[in-house]
Amino acid sequence: MNTELAQTHLNDDTRDIRALIAETQAVLGEAVCEFPSGSLALSFSGAEDVILIDIAHRHGLHLDVFSLDTGRLHPETHEFLEVVRKHYDQAIELLSPNPIGVQEMVKAKGLFSFYTDGHSECCKVRKVQPLRQKLDTLAAWVTGQRQDQGVTRTALAQRQTDEVFSTEKRQLVKFNPLAHWTSADVWQYIRTYQVPYNPLHNRGFVSIGCQPCTRATGPYEHERAGRWWWEQAENKECGLHAKRIIPLAQR
Ligand code: SF4
Repeated sequence: MNTELAQTHLNDDTRDIRALIAETQAVLGEAVCEFPSGSLALSFSGAEDVILIDIAHRHGLHLDVFSLDTGRLHPETHEFLEVVRKHYDQAIELLSPNPIGVQEMVKAKGLFSFYTDGHSECCKVRKVQPLRQKLDTLAAWVTGQRQDQGVTRTALAQRQTDEVFSTEKRQLVKFNPLAHWTSADVWQYIRTYQVPYNPLHNRGFVSIGCQPCTRATGPYEHERAGRWWWEQAENKECGLHAKRIIPLAQR
């Protein structure tokens, strides 16, 4: 394993991840059993999502996979998508933003308005709208979110009703099978099972989003410190997971 990668991601004590893998497999199994192909899909963007693909493949669970191609991703991320596609023989649907929406925003505000106006507007056009269009076709989706990713995710449940994208007529279920994993767990799994990862991680990038909104972080910085670093921690969501989501058990 790359030394920098080890230093960046294995600061915490590693623990036996077999129980976490079994738990994740159970959540994925529940999702696949309850929601047939075509009504359930995994949103793929980072290291965690490859773990979900890996566990699903090892246990014969079929997952449809999509990813948001915002038009501002690093070339390394595109190459990584291709590596994953080939490694698992996994179809990955790429969702693009509405070109008219992008054109209007860029014409009015330029290519870097998020540095002065905040990231919400650009994320809405490039991420939230295409995601909403996709989720409107599904009954449930799967994410690689974890509780320890930041102050906005500490109460994350493994299964929730998604209040951001549910409508009055249609309740959308959101599965977060890695909710209880830590960053160290993720990298222990990747190392143990030789899971492909984005080469940007070898250059100090931990949480990877769009190129202009992601920077490398130091060994003692929180992983989300590299995302929208000019904004407050409470604002570090792109709208995909921003609103409070109520665990089904509490409803
Ligand atoms: S992360 Fe940055 S570039 Fe990407 S959609 Fe959000 S504001 Fe735009």
